[in-house]
This record gives sequence, C-alpha cells and structure tokens, in this order.
Amino acid sequence: MTKIPSETEVVIIGGGVVGIGAAIECAERGIPCVVCEKGTVAGEQSSRNWGWIRKQGRRPEELPLMLESDRIWRRLAERIEDVGFRVGGVSYFAQSDEELQRHIDWMEHAGQYQIETHILSSAEVDEMTGRTDRRFRGGVRSPTDAYAEPSRAVPALARYAEAKGAVIATGTAVRTLMQEGGRVTGVVTEHGPIAAQSVILAGGAWSRTFLKNINVRFPQLGVRSSAMRTSPVAPISTSTFGASGASIRPRLDGGYTVGRATAARFDLIPAAFEHFRAFLPVMWKRRKMMKLRLGREYFGPLGHHRWGEDDTSPFELVRTLDPAPDQALLTDLFRTARSLYPHLAEAKPVESWASLIDVMPDEMPVIDTVASVPGLVIASGLSGHGFGLGPGAGALAAQLALGRDPIADPLPFRLSRFGPKHAVAA
Ligand SMILES: Cc1cc2nc3c(=O)[nH]c(=O)nc-3n(C[C@H](O)[C@H](O)[C@H](O)COP(=O)(O)OP(=O)(O)OC[C@H]3O[C@@H](n4cnc5c(N)ncnc54)[C@H](O)[C@@H]3O)c2cc1C
Repeated sequence: MTKIPSETEVVIIGGGVVGIGAAIECAERGIPCVVCEKGTVAGEQSSRNWGWIRKQGRRPEELPLMLESDRIWRRLAERIEDVGFRVGGVSYFAQSDEELQRHIDWMEHAGQYQIETHILSSAEVDEMTGRTDRRFRGGVRSPTDAYAEPSRAVPALARYAEAKGAVIATGTAVRTLMQEGGRVTGVVTEHGPIAAQSVILAGGAWSRTFLKNINVRFPQLGVRSSAMRTSPVAPISTSTFGASGASIRPRLDGGYTVGRATAARFDLIPAAFEHFRAFLPVMWKRRKMMKLRLGREYFGPLGHHRWGEDDTSPFELVRTLDPAPDQALLTDLFRTARSLYPHLAEAKPVESWASLIDVMPDEMPVIDTVASVPGLVIASGLSGHGFGLGPGAGALAAQLALGRDPIADPLPFRLSRFGPKHAVAA
C-alpha cells in the first residue's frame, strides 16, 4: 500500500487503462494527481482483455477519440519499454456475404478519417490463414491497427505516470466523495480523506455502484466474458485474425490470446431490473450471444447501494473481480479456433480467465462532468472496447476535469444522452 497524501489537485478512482491514462495526462502537465486503486493496477478488465488497439469496426462517433488514443499509444510505446505494443494490423474475416458487406460498409468511415483499410478476397484470406478451401467469403484488413500485451502494458504505463509525478495508491478503495455546498472537495478512502479540486471516476464495472450511493443514476451493467491463451506455435502472420467463431491475437510469448466477441454471460443483479428498459434494445440485438443467469452476484457487492463513509464499502469486500471462466464456451471456442486457423493445430490451451465488461445501453462510454455534482467527471462504461480507447478516454476525462481544451469532441460521450434524469441527482 502506498502512503496517501492528504491533498492533491485531481483524485482518479480506478487504476485501469482509463484511470492511468488520466494520470498520465495530469502528470505530463505537472498537475498533482493521486490514483486510488482498491486492488492492483489493471487487476480487472485492463489486464484481462484481448489487447487489440483497433480503429477498424469502431462507431464513427468514437473514431476521432480513437485516432487520438492511437497517437497516445504510439507516443508512449516509443518512450516506455514493456508495453508490448506492435503495429501488426487487424484483419476480420467473414463467413457470409452479409458479414462481409457489414465490414465493407464500415470502410466508408475509414475513408472519411483516412484510415488505411482494404478488402481481402477469399483467396487472400486463405493465403493469410494457411487454408485452401475458401471457407471465408473474404475479409477486411487495417494494416495500421495495433495491439499490446494487456498484463504488461497498463502496469508499465502506471510506472511512467509515477515517474512523471503521479501518486498511484494501490490497496486503496475510495468509499465516497467529500462534498461542500454541493461541490466535490475530495474523496474518503479506506485509509482516510484526500482533499482535491476534482475527482475522475474510472471505476470500470464498479462505477454504477459507486454512483448509486451518491444518488447519481448511471445505467451500466456487467457482462462476463471469457478468454484463453495457447502454447507457442510457429508464427503465420503479424496480424490479429477476427471471425465470428473465434478471434486470435499473436502474443509476445509466441502463443495466441483466443476469444469470441459474440459470446458473453449476463448475470442478473438488481440493477438489471432497474435499468431493464434502457438495455432492452441492446439485449434484443445481442440475444443470440448472451447467456442469462441469476447468479450469486445478485446478492454480491455489485448489488450494494447504500453505505456511509465510515462503513466498509463494497470495494473493500472485493479487491479484484475474478469471475470464473465459462469452460464449456472455451472448449467450443478452442475447437473452433483450431478449425478456422490451421496453424493452431499443435497449440495447447495454457490458461483461461474471465472478466466483467462494463456496458452502457448504447455500448458507448460516458466521459462527462456530472451536472448535479460539480467537480466530478465520469470516464466509464467503455463497453468492451476500452483498451484501445483507454489512454484517449483518460486524457479527455482529465482535460474535462482541468477545464482544458479536449483532444476530441466530448459530445458523443455525454451522460445526458440517456435522458435528463441521468445528468442530475436521482
Ligand atoms: C475478455 C475481454 C476482452 C477485451 N478485449 C478488448 C480488446 O481487444 N480491445 C479493447 O479495446 N478492449 C477490450 N476489452 C475491453 C477493455 O478491457 C475495457 O474496456 C477496459 O480495460 C476498461 O478499462 P477501465 O479502466 O475503464 O476499467 P478496469 O480495467 O476494469 O479498471 C477499473 C478499476 O477501478 C478499480 N475501482 C473501482 N471502483 C473503485 C473504488 N471505489 N476505489 C478504488 N478502486 C476502484 C477496480 O479495482 C479496477 O481496477 C476487453 C474486455 C474483456 C473483459
């Protein structure tokens, strides 16, 4: 545990990629900041993701911020060893004409933002994957897209932020905000208060729980996603391969991180009922890829919503969310990966894990000030694609907290898009 100072300018709640991105933005500008992380840096989603840093396939509203985030990744990767950042390209392969058309339709946005992307024929996909049977209808490749090693990258970025002057306090849960006259004056941590001009909440899947306790309505839910890694195999391409059955990323250790974007488990918790209407459209759209479960989580810490500054908070009860991976899914996933990508024939499964993805009803992040709580900025709800966007999202949050010019238009990320009651206290 790091000794916490009694005051600073900006407190950042959460030591994931977004919180550390915000700390870098503050520290590089000489602004004192403290990151409070209840567990370890990148203990949750930020070390458990696939590591793709892609522009390809992103919503057009998100692309300006993603382009900035991509620039930050490149700049930091030049200065910081151990990020495992590589520009290997991202390739998506389609198993139907309809799927191929969706990828091709996205290329219109790529053109608008000068993102280099090209169509792959069925024969070119075979050549890339080592197949000979034209199983894929074709694909789309973005050679400037990148990836990093999640378990190394964010801790390395945190060490850089520390070297620039940020305080990173692990084992330090923030219980609640301190407020005076309705304005944020700091936070109460489990180890005592820290006075601050502003607070950035980058709490990942915990943000809704934190906000509910201070009467701010935040329609965020969690879906459990499982992934695995393989033993090393002979390399076939520098690119990630994405397909609906299985997606793979080459790892620095010679193996692959394997996952399926179209499979997730949704655990019902009280908030699921509270925000049911907001989530109905996305749940309907994704109904084929969701398993719905009434799990132990219904009564667990994410379901808590009232405690005081002297009480043990839910954040102290669970230092690191470590849900069990879905082994049935992973068995099927690994079989599919080997059938789609023949070079994995000799690969062995080495490790599996899961994480809770924080999702918003429109699957877009919130990066915004909170009208009813001046001094508070939310940067959360990255909805399963925040590793690539994280450094940019964190920088934007810090700029909003400090009243500086933003790197990208924050309008698509405003909280009030879910209705006026989300911008004020509940
Ligand atoms: C299996 C999987 C694959 C993915 N693949 C990709 C990918 O390839 N590319 C991509 O761009 N994205 C991907 N994502 C999504 C990406 O990992 C997340 O969007 C991103 O890591 C979110 O970062 P974060 O900082 O917002 O949250 P987190 O990394 O979850 O960090 C939040 C932190 O806040 C801390 N915290 C919360 N509340 C408190 C409190 N009150 N006090 C102190 N600390 C607190 C938590 O302990 C946690 O460490 C994937 C996610 C998963 C699960």
